[in-house]
Amino acid sequence: MEEATFLTRYARRVFVVHRRDKLRASKIMQDKAFNNDKIEFIWNTDVAEILGNPEQGVTGVRLKETTTNQERVFECDGVFVAIGHKPNTDLFQGQLDMDAVGYLKTSGHSTATNIPGVFACGDVQDSVYRQAVTAAGTGCMAAIDAERFLDHLPIAMPSGEGVTIEGEHISPDHEAIIMPDGNIVPNKAGAVNREP
Ligand SMILES: Cc1cc2nc3c(=O)[nH]c(=O)nc-3n(C[C@H](O)[C@H](O)[C@H](O)COP(=O)(O)OP(=O)(O)OC[C@H]3O[C@@H](n4cnc5c(N)ncnc54)[C@H](O)[C@@H]3O)c2cc1C
Repeated sequence: MEEATFLTRYARRVFVVHRRDKLRASKIMQDKAFNNDKIEFIWNTDVAEILGNPEQGVTGVRLKETTTNQERVFECDGVFVAIGHKPNTDLFQGQLDMDAVGYLKTSGHSTATNIPGVFACGDVQDSVYRQAVTAAGTGCMAAIDAERFLDHLPIAMPSGEGVTIEGEHISPDHEAIIMPDGNIVPNKAGAVNREP
């Protein structure tokens, strides 16, 4: 609905072709569209074909009623396809934390997800801006976060202990961390070893 309302800034009339007889958009967006004199709804209908030619561009669409399968040609100057806002994150269900819509949750200003070493960026993580440049920006953030994560993993030594870039030594049984100042702390989370 947001898109239809946006298009009324540039078009004299906007026809919303919808396959069902009601919308799933929020009530506030629906009311905005229903109250806009430039927007008209064509219910229970699919766009079966976009019609046009190289000289004139789009000249119309072939519409198909979903209840009767009846077809008709509808003249128009342009077609915009709304693809919806559901992020493509179904494969992460049950693994990565996500909100009710499916956007992956990240921690604070970072791109860290609930799984250490997994970082989320771009349209699967950003429900607000959803632009190429912001996706590229958060992609860069995720790359930096991933690099720092890898840098801080302990490297496995031949002795069996792990050593981090900060000079921490993780005991071979992974039970204790010897800090650079000699302090010994229990390794509660368990250390992850990286092959040298
Ligand atoms: C019609 C349209 C017009 C737009 N116009 C603009 C615009 O004018 N300006 C602007 O800034 N932004 C625009 N955007 C938004 C912009 O395209 C996105 O914000 C941006 O592409 C998001 O980048 P991304 O890397 O997060 O996701 P995507 O570009 O969607 O990249 C995700 C990639 O993951 C791949 N993938 C998906 N599932 C799997 C899987 N299971 N395994 C492996 N790979 C997988 C996909 O094939 C895809 O290559 C537009 C978007 C659309 C749809």
